[in-house]
Amino acid sequence: MERPRCDVVVVGGGVIGLASAWRAAREGLAVVLVDPEPGRGASWAAAGMLAPVTEVHYGEEALLALNLASARSWPGFAAEVEEESGLPVSYRRTGTLLVAADEGDRAWAAELHRFQAGLGLEVEWLTGREARALEPALAPGVRAGLWAPGDHQVHNRELVGALLAAGRAREVVHLPLRVSSVETSGGAVSGVGLGDGTTIDCGAVVLAAGCRSGELAGVPAGVLPPVRPVKGQILRLRGPADRPLLSRTVRGVVQGQSVYLVPRADGSLVIGATVEEAGFDLTVTAGAVYGLLRDAQRVVPGVSELVLEESLAGLRPGSPDNGPLVGPSGLPGLVLATGHYRNGILLTPLTAEAVAATLAGREVPGELAGFGPDRFPVLAC
Ligand SMILES: Cc1cc2nc3c(=O)[nH]c(=O)nc-3n(C[C@H](O)[C@H](O)[C@H](O)COP(=O)(O)OP(=O)(O)OC[C@H]3O[C@@H](n4cnc5c(N)ncnc54)[C@H](O)[C@@H]3O)c2cc1C
Repeated sequence: MERPRCDVVVVGGGVIGLASAWRAAREGLAVVLVDPEPGRGASWAAAGMLAPVTEVHYGEEALLALNLASARSWPGFAAEVEEESGLPVSYRRTGTLLVAADEGDRAWAAELHRFQAGLGLEVEWLTGREARALEPALAPGVRAGLWAPGDHQVHNRELVGALLAAGRAREVVHLPLRVSSVETSGGAVSGVGLGDGTTIDCGAVVLAAGCRSGELAGVPAGVLPPVRPVKGQILRLRGPADRPLLSRTVRGVVQGQSVYLVPRADGSLVIGATVEEAGFDLTVTAGAVYGLLRDAQRVVPGVSELVLEESLAGLRPGSPDNGPLVGPSGLPGLVLATGHYRNGILLTPLTAEAVAATLAGREVPGELAGFGPDRFPVLAC
């Protein structure tokens, strides 16, 4: 019997694989996306913040430039996904307010503001009173705020559904299976082996398996991406849709700990998240739920009135320098799209564009040039 064949197999259907598959299909390629549970990995757990300014970290200036470029792509990307899928993704341009709970946190926020201002980022220092004027539900004790009008949000779960539909509209075939191996012939990708024992022949494979990207059989050890799981526990609460507690994302610094509260249009509120090196553990702990609620309540006391609907853990695909690995790899035909760590939702548009460009034989967008898979030296054993 003849083996099934396509141009591209995408391994993994989180936001990165789904968007890459859709964009590749728009290039005219025949695409098969393989994932037993598309959209149920980190992309489901995430908060959906598109926040390059309030997420900026010392020493990550190159990543900041990439994040800012992807943030600029978001309005057009959201409109295209909605148009091709016929489904909403609730991209909201409501800005982000970072607040300091006590004097120590205020000093920390002032330092962050100096760093952000030095980078030319759009961010304004607010007194506690000015912050409360923007968000009246803030605690009376809040000391100061940083207002970042350009840090937006998207409903990541709606995004997953819309990307699946947009892919279907472009004839992306979804197989609800696991990819068990990448097959090679003459030193290049020739197909994939599937969990049910069958195979698909193809000329290219896009490895977008999130935190599992570093363990696919058949990929040479020096080519497998150095990606690891970084656990994040996160909560979803519900309040009345007609009287939302907050109208924009609030990030709190509480005795040096970070917490964020992301309000959705339907009255729900996402509160996150822990950052833990705990392997592939997806358990939810009492201590994490307690800590998140305690810190959230410290900056927005009304949180205690809301209904706790969900607590879950997700695994971010972390990389050694916190930047993604996107583009052609050392195995001809294998394209990497992984390692997006805490910015995968934000980086979806630019990543998908880069994957489609690579598959079509074009250069990746300039902002991603420094994030090629070959930037990590292979350690000799
Ligand atoms: C708590 C939390 C909060 C976050 N908040 C934000 C945020 O606010 N903003 C932001 O930008 N980012 C955020 N992130 C990060 C973001 O969620 C990730 O970077 C992003 O979702 C990664 O997408 P992905 O498609 O690479 O991985 P995933 O969404 O994890 O998808 C990987 C997919 O691969 C599939 N898979 C694995 N192995 C195989 C295989 N062998 N065969 C077939 N399929 C396979 C899995 O089933 C899964 O569906 C958050 C993450 C967490 C955990």
